[in-house]
Amino acid sequence: MARYGMVIDIAKCNGCFNCFLACRDEHCGNDFPPYSASQPQTGQSWMQVIEKERGKYPKVKVAYTPVPCMQCDDASCIKAATGGAVYRRADGIVIIDPKKSEGQKAVVSACPYRVIFWNEEKQIPQKCTFCAHLLDQGWKVPRCVEVCPTGALTFGNLDDPGSDVARAMKSGNAEILHPEYGMKEKVAYIGLPKRFIAGSVVFGNTDECGEGARVTLQGKGEKRITQADNYGDFEFDGLMSDKPYRVKVECAGYKPFETEVTTKVDVYLGDIVLRKSTGVKKATKKSTKTVKTKTKGAKTRKR
Ligand code: SF4
Ligand code: SF4
Repeated sequence: MARYGMVIDIAKCNGCFNCFLACRDEHCGNDFPPYSASQPQTGQSWMQVIEKERGKYPKVKVAYTPVPCMQCDDASCIKAATGGAVYRRADGIVIIDPKKSEGQKAVVSACPYRVIFWNEEKQIPQKCTFCAHLLDQGWKVPRCVEVCPTGALTFGNLDDPGSDVARAMKSGNAEILHPEYGMKEKVAYIGLPKRFIAGSVVFGNTDECGEGARVTLQGKGEKRITQADNYGDFEFDGLMSDKPYRVKVECAGYKPFETEVTTKVDVYLGDIVLRKSTGVKKATKKSTKTVKTKTKGAKTRKR
């Protein structure tokens, strides 16, 4: 018997909402007893796609996080239901019985992920079933996975070590959306949006982009080094929230720049203008020549 799970790769999700639409197409107006009653035309999203804007102008990013039911092995919704109204199938899929759950509104608020919806007309709680009715007919994946154009959703048998989903789950990159809930979720994520620190290096004497400047990020037990690109831009992504970091920018012939930042939010440091260092006049002239050659044709920054 398979044990179904899903891994969602945030970097591959472009926010097209196909998964959301396919879910609506499958479930609106369609009953699939004994697993689900039809989803109403409005007010429910069994597959939500949450848009998150990160950073501020001119360094802005958008991340989309698809959120279905996590099909938890230690599900709070099962504990909150009475009379076996919510149960786990042998393949791990958590089902809300549309008949037995009638009137059990408490089940909705039992899920901390907020993926259970109340059907006012039918007086039942409802949620994603991983399209259990289709899997029973021999489908290999639910509708949302089938229609995803970018391969952001990987579905399959977690107990088959050769399956893509099992490999993704064990890659070391997969993480639970809210591990603090501790419900043994069977949906995991790769590349969940975290914090970034970015900036743009400018050579103060020429007003040219600081291509090649060495940028060092240092935090508690963490050190990363990168180089400013041909626009002078650099970025460190995937940082922990609310942590202090030290950023140092260095380039031969220029005074180093250092600053401290805390990742309460995503941080864009803006233009970091490197000034010529004194006492290295000869080296400075030489390095200026080098920089001009390297940046020939490169854009001069507009500030
Ligand atoms: S995510 Fe919520 S609805 Fe889904 S199994 Fe877990 S507790 Fe239940
Ligand atoms: S279909 Fe795929 S790419 Fe489109 S929103 Fe859903 S997960 Fe993202």
